[in-house]
Amino acid sequence: MTEQHLAGLNPAQRAAVLAPAPQLVIAGAGSGKTETLARRVVDLILRRGEDPSRLLCITFTTKAAAEMRARLAQRLPPEQLPRWVGTFHAAMARLLVEDGADVPGLPRGFSIIPQAEARRLLMQAGGIRDAQTGAALQEVLSLLKGRLAKTPRGKAFARFEGALLDQAAALLPDYTAALAERAALDFDDLIALPVRAMRDDPDLAARWQARWSEILVDEFQDTNLAQHRLVKLLAGQGARVFAVGDDAQAIYGWRGAAVAELRRFAEHYPTAPAALRLETNYRSTRRILLAANAVAACDPEALRKVLRPADAKSALGPPLSLTILETPGEEGKAVAKRLLSLRQKSPELAWRDAAVLLRATFLAEPIQLALREAGIPTAMVAEREPEPPKEILAAQAWLRLALSFRQGAWDPAADDAFRRACAMPARGLSGRLFARLRDHAGEAGLALAAAIPTLKATDDDRAPFLAVAETAKAIAAALAAQRPSPADALQLAASGSGLAAGLRQAPAPVIAAWEAAFAAAARSGSLAAYADALALGNAAGEAEAPDAVALMTLHRAKGLEFDHVLLPGLEDGVFPHFRAEAQGSLDEERRLFYVGLTRARKTLWLSWVRHRRDWAAKPSRFIAEIPPQLFRDVA
Ligand code: ATP
Ligand code: MG
Repeated sequence: MTEQHLAGLNPAQRAAVLAPAPQLVIAGAGSGKTETLARRVVDLILRRGEDPSRLLCITFTTKAAAEMRARLAQRLPPEQLPRWVGTFHAAMARLLVEDGADVPGLPRGFSIIPQAEARRLLMQAGGIRDAQTGAALQEVLSLLKGRLAKTPRGKAFARFEGALLDQAAALLPDYTAALAERAALDFDDLIALPVRAMRDDPDLAARWQARWSEILVDEFQDTNLAQHRLVKLLAGQGARVFAVGDDAQAIYGWRGAAVAELRRFAEHYPTAPAALRLETNYRSTRRILLAANAVAACDPEALRKVLRPADAKSALGPPLSLTILETPGEEGKAVAKRLLSLRQKSPELAWRDAAVLLRATFLAEPIQLALREAGIPTAMVAEREPEPPKEILAAQAWLRLALSFRQGAWDPAADDAFRRACAMPARGLSGRLFARLRDHAGEAGLALAAAIPTLKATDDDRAPFLAVAETAKAIAAALAAQRPSPADALQLAASGSGLAAGLRQAPAPVIAAWEAAFAAAARSGSLAAYADALALGNAAGEAEAPDAVALMTLHRAKGLEFDHVLLPGLEDGVFPHFRAEAQGSLDEERRLFYVGLTRARKTLWLSWVRHRRDWAAKPSRFIAEIPPQLFRDVA
């Protein structure tokens, strides 16, 4: 077996790839953590002969999951790609669908409720009108479930008022009942439920542990308590865990990430050797690394580590730049001027090589305005990945449902697809009727589609269900006869179900999403691989990004890299946030600043404004943590 797949790795990375599990890798930004994890997966499959379906690769955000998937796709043929690469939530949703029949508290044919809908439900349950209160209550309950706790007490909840915490605790039973009534789970249940089930039922735990030979986790510092427990339970006796992370980039404490757990890896996995370090940075110039190291050194809690340039010859790079403006409007113009001058200096530069990273979204408006006036294309990156339009989800559901009909039998794992298929195209099915089918299927231990014939109902009531099942069977027959590519299969499901006509007349954003979903299907190689992606909920595909300067929050930028990074709005009160000190989150704010600095490959441009709204501002205290000589044009 050649070791081509290890080529180019440095010795520390190589050691991490080959180390037996359990193993933790703690290393700074741009040191190749994600790369090392990806190469380990490739090594496990190609050299150690591991079955790709027995590897579980998980992380916290969809962006990071997409990055993992992309790196694996570069090095593995489609049929050898691991089947389980995704976020914690997506992986557990799939596990529960495929193998959750005996999980206590898991409703049959359950659906996963989106954040916004969950908030509405919560507000209804508590008779709450004020949206802000609703959002805060939802945050508290999410933190609570993420800590597997019953009462919202302790440091994690310090930023909320006592009355709100009491209200949240009191609301929990009603909210839980409302979810149960709809046979729905919220995102946090997707983690909490499997953890409880495995704790209570050793047989179930053993069965799930046997599914995977290794659990690989990226961005380990973002993992919350429930997720840490989940990893430990899934890893089982053998403690087969490989995790990579950077405590200096821990910026999700406010969402419950438990960085302390990262530092306690050895307690949880006693057989683990010391954490491995990767210290060579392949991303940034030496000046940028010096700035980042100096800022990280101010974090009293971070494990000490430094970033070193890839080799002694690597560029020192131009000095960092700091600009002081009077007003936000002026700052916008300064950002535009900076971008234009970068383009002037290197005409080959694409707009997408530069990014403007912000502490808060309110900073974006004057900048967007100025860039528009200067004719610079910009793309504001949304805080949350938008859910694909329901037309697309429906077409994918029809395909999954059809694929689940094999040898004349329905697979209960596709029950959620059946539910979506019933809803679109609309057949006027009542929720009550659907609930009856669900209960009946539960009692009979059948897939929803298989339970239709024995449902006690009038022929009229049964007809729309039968129509769905018959249509899916016809699509299944066409799939079997034509053996189409993944993209053609999706098209077949859309036309066979009757969705295609509506799609042709859909508004432009839906059509764009449809094309993106189509392109994603085409990229996925085989129909089997595509079916896996659908089951993990990550087959939406991203639309081809136009060439534009990205504007996004720093939280959103983690794990990404750009040639040129601009960091406006660096005032005390904005960054760090004015409540940070009182809430004890000053260090987390600094880590966010560190994340910002380390996104840059070549240049860093910082600015602050003397008069933001009606207060007179001071520069962010973090600027002073960067050694002043890095701003000067001397070596
Ligand atoms: P972050 O903390 O920001 O997530 P990371 O530690 O995951 O960063 P990667 O994204 O894996 O770092 O790597 C940073 C960059 O360095 C990538 O462009 C990657 O391709 C490159 N890189 C990693 N290892 C090597 C190597 N041995 N030789 C050359 N380039 C490398
Ligand atoms: Mg990474």
